Amino acid sequence: MGDPDYGLRQLALSFWTIVSQCANPDCRRELRYLRDGKIYQFVLSSKTGSKRMEHFWLCGECSKTMILIRVDQSGVKTVGKGGH
Ligand SMILES: [Zn+2]
Repeated sequence: MGDPDYGLRQLALSFWTIVSQCANPDCRRELRYLRDGKIYQFVLSSKTGSKRMEHFWLCGECSKTMILIRVDQSGVKTVGKGGH
């Protein structure tokens, strides 16, 4: 039905407009290569209750030592891998 690539293009578009740098606030490395690092996808709720898909990226260096988790309905944070 229609254009089979449409959904993919929309995803790529929203991805590039939302994700431009590393999700680690102490890093904020600029996103240049998707093969570098790790991409996360979360469904977050806004204050009005509407849900939306959000994408985050951890750069290669950060994704070696940390992961990204959802902390509440509307936020994410980085946590260290392994140790507690
Ligand atoms: Zn980083």
